[in-house]
Amino acid sequence: MKPCNIFQLQRLSVNDGEGIRTTVFFKGCALRCQWCANPESWAFDAQLMFFPHKCTGCGNCVIACKQEANVRNNDGAINFISSNCINCGACLTVCPADARQVMGEELTIDAVMTQLKKDYIFYLESGGGVTFSGGEPFLHPEYLRLLNARCHQLGINTAVESCAYFDFAACQDIIANIDQLFFDLKIMDSARHKQYTGVTNERILANIEAASKINDNIFVRVPVITGVNDSDENMSALAKFLLAKTSITRVELLPYHKLGLEKMTALGMPAVVFETPSEAKMEELNSLLVREGMTIVSFK
Ligand code: SF4
Ligand code: SF4
Repeated sequence: MKPCNIFQLQRLSVNDGEGIRTTVFFKGCALRCQWCANPESWAFDAQLMFFPHKCTGCGNCVIACKQEANVRNNDGAINFISSNCINCGACLTVCPADARQVMGEELTIDAVMTQLKKDYIFYLESGGGVTFSGGEPFLHPEYLRLLNARCHQLGINTAVESCAYFDFAACQDIIANIDQLFFDLKIMDSARHKQYTGVTNERILANIEAASKINDNIFVRVPVITGVNDSDENMSALAKFLLAKTSITRVELLPYHKLGLEKMTALGMPAVVFETPSEAKMEELNSLLVREGMTIVSFK
């Protein structure tokens, strides 16, 4: 089994399923949600991130980089041109300010299991386990299948957080064997979905529908983005879809936050700022979903 690019192993997580968990973040995603909290997950390969607020302006990286990916602006600040970067790592070793970080490391399943086993006792005592997230874990079916099986051999509960955009046939057996599934569902209008995420939503809806027929422990998560998907019409359509096409009734609404903005800037990507919904708006949407027959859950 080839190693897989993992960008974080987050221990003692309590927001990614039941109990205390370790979350394994895979690299690679087909969506480009403009509000993404983990834009470092989009590319399949490792990527350099540059944090300007840590930079002292010493210029070591400008000298070290043969690709002209680090240039000094007229105002003296360092500009990272991500499109020039080949991720050679030369600038990492010369930066005295820890202003550069590579996201993503090729890890074998044995290497991941070694980390996961460290918190085995917490999983057992809290009813927790391991959550596979990303990025999109189902874009790595062979690796995910084996990692899930290795966890189950030790009695470790498993969960997947997914955007639901993947090849269902390649992942069907894994879906049936995962203990909990969290599918993101964002925008019910397909053209609008494409406008904000880069893809239409037909495959996502079809995958959620098909998954609900072979796994009865599925939650739907909705990131609530002001002015994008927070309309009554969108939430009502979402609930009606779940009731009509699936057996899923548990929904978690997650208010947009701005944690992804700094990462987008650090990756040299343009960052789009949205407005965080108010608590009153979140309550209003939760109430609407309850009226539509949904059960509101929270892992916060
Ligand atoms: S990692 Fe990228 S920015 Fe750093 S030296 Fe290599 S090419 Fe240049
Ligand atoms: S080496 Fe580090 S501190 Fe020096 S200019 Fe480059 S990013 Fe800034």
